[in-house]
Amino acid sequence: MKGFWLTFTDGSKGYCEGSGDFDAKQIAEKLTGKTVAGGKYRDIAAKTLPYPANPIIWQLDHPVSGKCPAFCYRPNECAGETTCRQARACTE
Ligand SMILES: [Zn+2]
Repeated sequence: MKGFWLTFTDGSKGYCEGSGDFDAKQIAEKLTGKTVAGGKYRDIAAKTLPYPANPIIWQLDHPVSGKCPAFCYRPNECAGETTCRQARACTE
């Protein structure tokens, strides 16, 4: 599962995991009843996020390691990055 920072058509944002951005969009839309901004299949308003961030819409509850805590505190700035930009803020 990959983590994505999604933007909805109402301007709200949230974190959701999926096998890809389209999968994350489908999961988030089903659970929230809202619509993810951007295209239906392409150019989805979903950016990868290195760590989960609040609000978490859905994430994998791994049978062994469980759920990854919401380590990222600045998801709007870290979206699209492979590591948290604010190393200090995002790991403390
Ligand atoms: Zn971060």
